[in-house]
Amino acid sequence: MRSLRTHHIIQNLLIVLICGLIIPISIVQMLDWKFKQFATEKFNENRATICEYFTNLYKKQQNWNAVTKIATKPDFYRWPIMSVELYDNNNRLIKKYERRHRHPNFSSEKIITTIDKLTLAKSEIGSLHFVCLPFSASPEGLFLKKFKMLLLHTVTPLLFLSALLAVFIAYKISKPIIAVTERAKTITKGNYAKKEEMKSNITEIQQLIDSVDTLGERLDKQEKLRQRMMGDITHELRNPVTIIKSHLEAIEDGIWEATPERIHLTVNEVDRLSNLIQDVERLMTIEGMDNAMTFERINFSALTQNSVSSFLPLAQSKGITLASNVKKGIFCDIDAPKMRQAINNLLTNAIRYTDSGGTIAVSLILNTYNNTVTLTISDTGIGIEEKDLPNIFERFYRTDKSRTRASGGMGIGLAVVKAIVDAHKGKIKAISSLGKGTTFIVTLPQEITNNA
Ligand code: ADP
Repeated sequence: MRSLRTHHIIQNLLIVLICGLIIPISIVQMLDWKFKQFATEKFNENRATICEYFTNLYKKQQNWNAVTKIATKPDFYRWPIMSVELYDNNNRLIKKYERRHRHPNFSSEKIITTIDKLTLAKSEIGSLHFVCLPFSASPEGLFLKKFKMLLLHTVTPLLFLSALLAVFIAYKISKPIIAVTERAKTITKGNYAKKEEMKSNITEIQQLIDSVDTLGERLDKQEKLRQRMMGDITHELRNPVTIIKSHLEAIEDGIWEATPERIHLTVNEVDRLSNLIQDVERLMTIEGMDNAMTFERINFSALTQNSVSSFLPLAQSKGITLASNVKKGIFCDIDAPKMRQAINNLLTNAIRYTDSGGTIAVSLILNTYNNTVTLTISDTGIGIEEKDLPNIFERFYRTDKSRTRASGGMGIGLAVVKAIVDAHKGKIKAISSLGKGTTFIVTLPQEITNNA
């Protein structure tokens, strides 16, 4: 296992080495080979011309006598030839044509001698010894040498610079990944809070950072929710349990007589307790239920109308007028049982917080311009104070006014409604005026798509 940074550095340095070393070396090798080939071809051509020249001389006189009078020809010293030696067929030196000035790169160890036999009418008449300098001393060889030096002087600093750049790039690329890994590690240790803002200009890395941030935020939210929920539940449980305990102790100690009224009072508190447990259960199943929802295209108008109808007897018994104005035939993608529960909660509240003689109006309309539906439930009840309005959808939140009411719930109903509406990708808001009434407006998209 290697760290990401080391891995990147090794990888980048390898690339630099391949590009900066192997490529120039191969180019030099290629040039070397090509130049040598070219030089050898030229030398072979020259040798052939000189051999032909001497053979023709011999042909005229059938001996080498004339040769001694022949001055050197420029051909004899064309590179890489240093001297040309003519031997007869008994291997006796007849003449040696030698360069007057030694070549600057001349050195006897480097000398290469090439021997060509001279033949006339298939019989050997002598031989020519070409004493030559090696390729490295040739103009091509010297040019190549200079070229190699130049390349070395240019490539070395460039290679060094590229290596530095490669290390820098490796650091830069791995930095956000290392940071995001560290963040993921702290998340696994239970530290969800974001310590510093991480940014990257690489799309995928930024997506990774965002995902880990979102994960941390979600876990943080869940953790806070869990802690608050535990606090809320224990707080809500304490009250009825204390009352029940004090009632029972008073009866046990003989301070109180177990009259039917006192037993009824205690049973009421037990009921409160069991309602609370039910509410908590309901809330737990509904929160974070986005995946547990089953959406179906159903007649929302009919569902709303049915809910209203089922509340008519209760409203009547409280002397409240329950009126509905539901546009027929509105179809929506909804989870029918959950949506029914949301409407029921809103209607329960409306009846709970409206006094006799009041009115509750339910309406459902279709907004064709943006394919949404709006469900409105308004009452002429006690209303909600402005300071309470932002909190009513929080769990266990109850206004002071509702607390004084015997019929008050546990402050869970609206949290459940909000969770259901959220799962339907909808919105809910409350408008209220204290003493005049409250209106709940629920807006839902008609169609639920995955990215709605
Ligand atoms: P509860 O179970 O206490 O009714 P909810 O979550 O349903 O809890 O509501 C939270 C609080 O919002 C209530 O305690 C109440 O004070 C206020 N509320 C909700 N609906 C209405 C309404 N229609 N009229 C007045 N107040 C309301």
